[in-house]
Amino acid sequence: MATTDSIVQLRGDAPAPYDALYDPLVSPLSSQGMEYAPTYWVASAGEPPEDDGPLEGDADVDVLVVGSGFTGLSTALFLAREHGIRAMVVDANRTAWGCTSRNGGQGQNASGRLYRSQWIERWGKATALKLDAEIREGFNTFKTLISEVPCDPQPGGHLYIAHRARKMAFLSNECKVMHDVFGYDTRMLSAKEVAESYVDDKENCGALLEPDGIGVHPLKLAFGYLRMARALGVKVHPGTPVLGVETVRGVHHVRTPRGVIRAKAVAFATGGYTRNDMHKVLSARIMPILSNSLVTRPLTQDEIASTGFQTHVVITDTRTLRFYYRLLPDNRLQIGSRSAITGADAANPRHLAVLVEGLHRKFPSLANIRVDFSWWGWVDVSHDMMPRVMQPDPQQSIFYAVGYGGNGVSFSAHAGRRMAQRVAGKWSGFDDLPIYNSALEYPNVMGLVKWRGFAPFRRVGQRFLYHKYLAQDEKLDEMR
Ligand SMILES: Cc1cc2nc3c(=O)[nH]c(=O)nc-3n(C[C@H](O)[C@H](O)[C@H](O)COP(=O)(O)OP(=O)(O)OC[C@H]3O[C@@H](n4cnc5c(N)ncnc54)[C@H](O)[C@@H]3O)c2cc1C
Repeated sequence: MATTDSIVQLRGDAPAPYDALYDPLVSPLSSQGMEYAPTYWVASAGEPPEDDGPLEGDADVDVLVVGSGFTGLSTALFLAREHGIRAMVVDANRTAWGCTSRNGGQGQNASGRLYRSQWIERWGKATALKLDAEIREGFNTFKTLISEVPCDPQPGGHLYIAHRARKMAFLSNECKVMHDVFGYDTRMLSAKEVAESYVDDKENCGALLEPDGIGVHPLKLAFGYLRMARALGVKVHPGTPVLGVETVRGVHHVRTPRGVIRAKAVAFATGGYTRNDMHKVLSARIMPILSNSLVTRPLTQDEIASTGFQTHVVITDTRTLRFYYRLLPDNRLQIGSRSAITGADAANPRHLAVLVEGLHRKFPSLANIRVDFSWWGWVDVSHDMMPRVMQPDPQQSIFYAVGYGGNGVSFSAHAGRRMAQRVAGKWSGFDDLPIYNSALEYPNVMGLVKWRGFAPFRRVGQRFLYHKYLAQDEKLDEMR
């Protein structure tokens, strides 16, 4: 439970200013929520749709959804649309304030951090095939929702570029597995084909082209979810942080700064912003990892020619600490990658410098381009890098959908749909899938630390891993 020390009390109705250094593991919650991060998406999405304002006093509801990002809003939308249940959604901050208003908008036919070949290694071919069918259905759920919302979609697939020649063997293997085992129309492209037909990324050593992949304006999409959910009677209360939950005779008493919400069921959709004091089923189960993004001014036609951009498809590279980028509809370039380890260090200019240097390495002709927007956010990483949509205790009406590992733009739509089914008691047929049949565990670091008491030391381990990955990603140049 949060103590009064962990709540910042403010006067007046306006949201608190954005705290760029907010860290879900150590920062206090604001009693009335925070303004948005200064993202390109916030600047270009238009006025946020109406919401129901901060919740004053107590309330009684059937279903409370905590978190108003893609996952929370999609859960509420599908509860209303497919089960006739009108949930209440609360968010500590403004609507869609978390990663949902900060991501790269890359919708991929994937979720979590593991590749399909790793699914086979980990769970065997039969389970991997079932998981693929589910993730594929998830991508269709996402496609259906984006067809209902004007969100600047950029279809055309996902280009996965080898940033070193030695990475081509890995991509070829993934391409073959996706094609031969899972039946995807994947293909390998030579460096020349990539440069001539897609983009002249100077690190490009060839690529895997996946047929599925759609870039979206994430905040326009989230605002669409919000509008559709509210049109069906869902109530959405920003500025309403959940401080703790106590269950008394099957009813969950959810404490907020201004009252208690009594709920028959609670569904958590708090992503990388999940706090350890919110509920014990999620305490120390999610590792929040910072991710950075920038957006340049619009490229001129000469700059587009010099960078060889002939595509708007979503692009990632093969670094473990990967770079992802795309040319936005207005010809700005968006690029993102890793960031700081702690919130306190997030604004250190060296993290933005990593992105700018990455941009310059890929596109030397953009050496002096102005950066109009830069921001960061906390992504949710689970113990095995895969998401979970769970009711951890069948006797308790407590649910969660989290753990996308920085890959939740598309799958969050389906995770919300599945969480809605669980909440509505319409769950059947998926219990052999690891993302639905096993609860989150305490994340470990290098297989050494799994006990929750060691949670603070995970960041020490993360620092060590970043050094290792950096060496692998960048310093083995001579093996090119
Ligand atoms: C820089 C960046 C780039 C990314 N790029 C991509 C990409 O290109 N493609 C991709 O697939 N994914 C990407 N991601 C990840 C993607 O954005 C997330 O997977 C997705 O948005 C998760 O949505 P969510 O609704 O689960 O969580 P969030 O959008 O993070 O929402 C969680 C919400 O919970 C609220 N909350 C937390 N605690 C409480 C509480 N106690 N009480 C009430 N409310 C609470 C928060 O205020 C927040 O609004 C990126 C993330 C970042 C940060």
